Amino acid sequence: MRVVVLTGAGISAESGVPTFRDADGLWEGHRVEDVATPEAYAAQPDVVHRFYDDRRTALGGVRPNAAHAALARLEEHLGDDLYLVTQNIDDLHERGGSRRVHHLHGRLRAAWCTTCDRRHTWTATLGDRPPCPTCEQPTLRPDVVWFGEVPYDMDSVERALFECDLFVAVGTSGLVYPAAAFVHYAIGVGADTLELNLAPDAVNDFAQVRQGPATETVPAWVEELLA
Ligand SMILES: [Zn+2]
Repeated sequence: MRVVVLTGAGISAESGVPTFRDADGLWEGHRVEDVATPEAYAAQPDVVHRFYDDRRTALGGVRPNAAHAALARLEEHLGDDLYLVTQNIDDLHERGGSRRVHHLHGRLRAAWCTTCDRRHTWTATLGDRPPCPTCEQPTLRPDVVWFGEVPYDMDSVERALFECDLFVAVGTSGLVYPAAAFVHYAIGVGADTLELNLAPDAVNDFAQVRQGPATETVPAWVEELLA
């Protein structure tokens, strides 16, 4: 059985990672346009660097939860037949034990050099303009996908969806991109579909929806699948 799992902010929220947008429409007090666009980075690089430096530092204070651990356990059983793709830029899947994780929106703990195009794992700050380990230019930016930029690994995600028997969305609204598009790919190839979410959408296209915290619904679903 080939399974594609998409995870979103809901799975990390239970570890204490702030969700993408707060109820007031701000992202940790910032307007999205001020910190998550290439234009913002060009205009105010110090503000953007400080925002991501703070978030990168905060990752040290959070831990993966039971949902991350359950998906790592699923990978142990399915190997390459599990395709795990996340919208999250934190590294909680990796720290929870997953070894094959596709980050649609990049990784907080990575830096991308705009001079030589190399990417580096990065746990320190970038706002102090450290030199690129490859070309030594002080041109490292957060390796995250901003609004207006193309998500990573989309070709690979589409291939996985076309070959899957089951598509599962965890902690992300089934109504909005990318989950809404992914579920249609999956349905198109006859795959089964399941949404695990805190508050299921009133209307969506998933064959099955289970409501509850990811730390409960994901371990229960994995147990069931492996039984
Ligand atoms: Zn470089």
